[in-house]
This record gives sequence, structure tokens and C-alpha cells, in this order.
Amino acid sequence: MEWISCPLCSGKEAKRSHQEGTYIMVRCLQCGFLYQNPRPSEKERLKSYQHYLPQGADEIEAWGRMMAPVFKKGADLIERYIPRGRLLDVGTGYGFFLALMQTRGWEVIGLEASLRGAHYGQKRWGIRILPQPWERASFPERAFDVVTAFYVIEHLPDPLAFLREVHRIVRPGGMLLLRYPHTTPIKDILSFMRLNNNLYHLPFHLCDFSPTSMHRALEKVGFTKIETVVGGFTTPSSLAGQLSGITFGNLAEMLYHLSGGRIMLPGVSKTTIARKVEQ
Ligand SMILES: [Zn+2]
Repeated sequence: MEWISCPLCSGKEAKRSHQEGTYIMVRCLQCGFLYQNPRPSEKERLKSYQHYLPQGADEIEAWGRMMAPVFKKGADLIERYIPRGRLLDVGTGYGFFLALMQTRGWEVIGLEASLRGAHYGQKRWGIRILPQPWERASFPERAFDVVTAFYVIEHLPDPLAFLREVHRIVRPGGMLLLRYPHTTPIKDILSFMRLNNNLYHLPFHLCDFSPTSMHRALEKVGFTKIETVVGGFTTPSSLAGQLSGITFGNLAEMLYHLSGGRIMLPGVSKTTIARKVEQ
């Protein structure tokens, strides 16, 4: 485990917000950001991701089906602004999103830290997927029209460095699309009801962005025209849980009923898009 200061503002003062076994989420007293501290070391993290993705053929198909509506909405949102071009998907998993974008006429490439995921995607779709985390990739400046990352940023030890790098490799006028869980509001409700849960999906999720902290982070590295789509379009299932910080699929249903249908867990996920300033 390693101890860190706030990944967004470098503040050193933080208050414990949630504990689960030995895992602890803290809230930065300076900027309010929620992050895991201490957290697993880089070596431990990379090791755990080799077995993170769904493994069996059936599971992979189920995952693809579950994510299909998310990917389609993401694609539609992108094409509203940029109809076609060169796209990089970071943490692409089995490459389903890239396959979709390829059929829509995009030139695509992926990054995937899990060897299994990268090989699968290359073999099944014939898409170039580099088997490495983004830190080890080196793309030229302004290489892409669009960079996407679905359920990735909450796993990154240095989200600001990632956003800064994306800003560098996106062309002026280009776009970043991020999809991420926003767990804390739901978490607070459940804790208030004294319901145990593992919504933060520890130790995998290193932080919990809100639209506000996400906007602040994106502005900090130079992005503009930031827009967040609130409300989700994922199907709740146990597999969705693994990817969006909700590990109990039936929790979604339970909460839905407890709240008289007012709270729907899929709504915890957010999509944010941002643009690099045109020159
Ligand atoms: Zn902070």
C-alpha cells in the first residue's frame, strides 16, 4: 500500500469518509475530492488487472451486450460534434466500442492493460490494441480527433496526468469523452439506511469523481466546452456493477423499491465530454 496526497489539488489534509476492511476512502479537506488512501501500489494494481475483465466466452458476450447501449449513446454523442476521424479508446477491454466505431467509419486504435483483453480485441476485430497502460504509450501531439475512456478514470492513480496527456494528443477542436461512476450520493443514502455495500468497488476504484470535480479537473488541464450528461443508460446487472462501482446487482433493484422508484442506480454513472480549444 502507498500513502498519497490529494490527486487533484495535492492537499495533504483529508478526513476518513468510508472504510471497508483495510480499504479507506478519504475526502480532501481542501477541494472535497474523494480518493482511496492508502491505496495499492502500482505493482499490485497491474497484477490485479490481469484478472479483472470477465473471462469466459459467455461472460464476454454478456458484457458486450450490456455495454452496447452505453457505447451507442457515446458514439452518437461524439458524432453530434465530430462526424468521423481518428479515435483512441483507453482501457478498451475487449474492444467492443472500437469495433462499433470502426463500423461507423472511424479509424480506431486501443490501449488495454490486460493482455487477455488486448489480444482478444485484436484477434476478434482485427483492431490494433496496444497491451499497455496509457502511461507506457507514446503518441505524437495532436494525433487524435477523439479520445474516449469508459469506466477508466476512477482506476487511475494520477487522473490529472492522464487528462493532461489526453489534452496533448487530441487535436485542437478535438474531443475527450469520459464515462465514470459517481457513487458517493448513493453511497451516502445507503450508509444512512445502514445498508452494507461495496459500491466504491475497493480496492479497484481509486477515486470517485462528481461532475463538479470532473469539470474542475478538465478545466485545470485546459479543456473547454465541458458538458456532463447526467443519468445513465446502463442496464443494471451484476456485471454492470463490476464496471461501474456497483458490485451488488440486486442492490439496484432493492434501492429502486425502497425509494418508491425515485432512485435508479444506473443514474450514478455520468458521461462528460470536453473539447480542446480550436486554434
Ligand atoms: Zn484536493
